[in-house]
Amino acid sequence: MSLVVVGSMAFDAIETPFGKSNRIVGGAATYIAWSASNFTRPIKQVSVVGGDFPKDELKLLEARGVNLEGVQVKENEKSFFWSGKYHLDMNTRDTLETQLNVLANFEPTVPNDYQDCDFLMLGNLNPHIQLSVIKQIEKRPKLVALDTMNFWMETALGDLEKTLTKIDVLIINDSEARQLSGQFSLVKAAKEILKMGPKYLVIKKGEHGALLFDANEVFFAPALPLEEVFDPTGAGDTFAGGFMGHIARTKDLSFNNMKRAIIVGSAMASFCVEKFGTTRLKEINAGDIESRIQLFKNLVSFDIELD
Ligand code: AMP
Repeated sequence: MSLVVVGSMAFDAIETPFGKSNRIVGGAATYIAWSASNFTRPIKQVSVVGGDFPKDELKLLEARGVNLEGVQVKENEKSFFWSGKYHLDMNTRDTLETQLNVLANFEPTVPNDYQDCDFLMLGNLNPHIQLSVIKQIEKRPKLVALDTMNFWMETALGDLEKTLTKIDVLIINDSEARQLSGQFSLVKAAKEILKMGPKYLVIKKGEHGALLFDANEVFFAPALPLEEVFDPTGAGDTFAGGFMGHIARTKDLSFNNMKRAIIVGSAMASFCVEKFGTTRLKEINAGDIESRIQLFKNLVSFDIELD
């Protein structure tokens, strides 16, 4: 049994109203692995980095139970680089620069040892790469989740639509759900998107929480009201890592358990934004996570008597 994670491992340069980081380690799969490894191990990573990616960062991940056999290291090339700038409203950001570098010609190879994959998390990447990984796993995993972004809707919609027919859970943000469905109402958007293949849809709304839909039900989880959001980069991936980590740990695919997975994902994302990059995710322990989940319980529980 394992959780296989696919996605970018990268350098990011981030500017927020609170400060600026030079090239720091990021990437969707990096955040997913740091988050999910709190709940399930081993995590089997599929990615690509250049010779410039710090070896000690790879060692830290290995020490967390992350198997890196599926991570190609291209010694003579550069790692994927992304830079972004947030404004005071931290729900929106501008991409300043994307250098695909090693990602430009990335052909993932899923090692034999990864064939025991029960849970597959396809982090934000070219949908053609996501599809290639699905095809290489011989036995259909119990649950396949996928994250994507507007960039792929604009440049690779055909491949994305094909990939959506092969997955169970789609995890996207509200503007992406609107763009993919052509509907402004998120309820209508969910109906349209569920016709495209996924059985479950998670719509993240930044500081306004997240929605979970299936064909019959809807669930809402808040985001923790924080005094300061220091750096939202990776919050979506950290959310996805917490969500899939919880599902892989409990092996329960019911809607009720997905509700819990949404809370776990939201709790993990609330840590991620407290410091730059993966810094906060490297500090926290099981006790911190448990207390944070308790805060979420307190935030939404109330007594009411209707006569
Ligand atoms: P999030 O804030 O959760 O949306 O994810 C931010 C992470 O996604 C950063 O660490 C980036 O390195 C990575 N990222 C940004 N754009 C892309 C892209 N086009 N493909 C893959 N990863 C990306």
